[in-house]
Amino acid sequence: MNRKTSKQDWIARFAKCAKDARQPHAETVGKKIVDRCGAMISTLRTRCKDSGQECLLSLDDMRAKMEAAYGKPCRYCLDPMKHTKTNSLSPDHIVPMADGGETTEENIELICTKCNRRKDTIAPERFQRLMDEVNRWPLRDRSSVLARLSVGGMHFKRGTVAAKAKGAA
Ligand SMILES: [Zn+2]
Repeated sequence: MNRKTSKQDWIARFAKCAKDARQPHAETVGKKIVDRCGAMISTLRTRCKDSGQECLLSLDDMRAKMEAAYGKPCRYCLDPMKHTKTNSLSPDHIVPMADGGETTEENIELICTKCNRRKDTIAPERFQRLMDEVNRWPLRDRSSVLARLSVGGMHFKRGTVAAKAKGAA
């Protein structure tokens, strides 16, 4: 009973966040944000398990983080963070897991999903410098580079870019 009640409470709280961020169908968005929090925690738990680490962030911690961050500017691209069809909020380790960063309330920050993809494994301070530069560019140049970064990082990681470059040579 408690669990159900609290989930309903969170839907209402997130519906308010969506409404404050001037999104239509706030109630539906509220439900989707609850699901998004569940999915983020489940991904973090899997990642922790895979790297022999304990996930020290609870579902409620995640929901609280979401509520606090919702509608606020993403620290990298400065766009307001919302759950939409094309973007959402994603957990990012401030100190990367690869450098021993833990999955704790203090070390997890919500950034927009697009920036999370753009950032990939780039160290936060380097990515920040890159984004500070890109954010000063005219909108058209900025959009073009950001769109490329969004797909490029993942392809590069899988070696697709390198493989394609080799094939083309
Ligand atoms: Zn962003």
